[in-house]
Amino acid sequence: MALETRYVPKLGRSVTRLGLGALPMGPLQRGLTVEEGARVVRAAVEGGVSFIDTATAYGTYEHVARGLFGWQGTVTVATKTHARADGAAAREHIEMARRELGRDVIDIMLCHCARSLLTREEWGPTLDALLEAKAKGRISLVGLSSHAVEGVRIAARHPDIDVVHPLINLTGMGIVDGTVDEMIAATAEAHDAGKFVYGMKALAGGNLVPRREEALQYAFGLDVLDTIAVGMVTPDEVEWNLRFAQSMAIPKELSERTAAHSKRLNILTFVCQGCGKCVDACENAALSVVEGKAVVDVEQCILCGYCAPHCPMFAIRMV
Ligand code: SF4
Ligand code: SF4
Repeated sequence: MALETRYVPKLGRSVTRLGLGALPMGPLQRGLTVEEGARVVRAAVEGGVSFIDTATAYGTYEHVARGLFGWQGTVTVATKTHARADGAAAREHIEMARRELGRDVIDIMLCHCARSLLTREEWGPTLDALLEAKAKGRISLVGLSSHAVEGVRIAARHPDIDVVHPLINLTGMGIVDGTVDEMIAATAEAHDAGKFVYGMKALAGGNLVPRREEALQYAFGLDVLDTIAVGMVTPDEVEWNLRFAQSMAIPKELSERTAAHSKRLNILTFVCQGCGKCVDACENAALSVVEGKAVVDVEQCILCGYCAPHCPMFAIRMV
């Protein structure tokens, strides 16, 4: 049995539909050491995975680079810049990715978490910096990641966008402006327009771990998703996902070991000063300040951890 692949014409190579998502291994979530993260990366590529998703903001370039060090196979790596209205910062992020990933040419670089490309003042300089780097041969493909139907819809119609990275999962959890059916329609439009499409948050940031077979079956069953980036933080989780993606039997003990951890966002209320910086950082409107303290709406929180670095008091923890 081998992992299913999709050919990406604009890259001239295939990638596995099962991709490794590097967010959870980094400091925003599980905080693995570089060695621990590298072992996860290595286990994934040795198991046949040929697509890895990371981002400037994830702090996992070293994990990825160490895991791929000396690996002879071709692995496509996608990353992102969260620079907004700041072309110089985007250019720094591009150079940082090339340097820290140890790659002269970044396969894919995205505008990170854009709700829409219509806001030219916010995304124009970032996109321009990515396109400039693409013209110079430093990036192969340029794209956009979004939790919003509107962002995906605009990306689908944008001539300069090669890659779209939408949030899609069984329950639609985390989609900021619509239903999962609307997101699938926008994603289909991107796919039909010839863009490479890879999905995020198939397990809703861990919320769907108790229903992971059903959630992954759903994501892999969506033909509009060429690849699905799945976060993994242990070699056991890699093995579980490899077996699942190849419809292989999964030993009961492996299932038990990998089902044990479910994350939650913890706000240290005795430290929180109610400044609201985390509220502004959350794309999912999952945070609010109530009576001077940050409060999380667990129905909206997709456990991405993006809010944590914005807290000046270090009051937000993923536990
Ligand atoms: S509250 Fe934090 S972890 Fe939850 S969705 Fe918002 S940014 Fe992500
Ligand atoms: S950013 Fe930190 S201190 Fe400010 S409201 Fe949020 S949790 Fe509290």
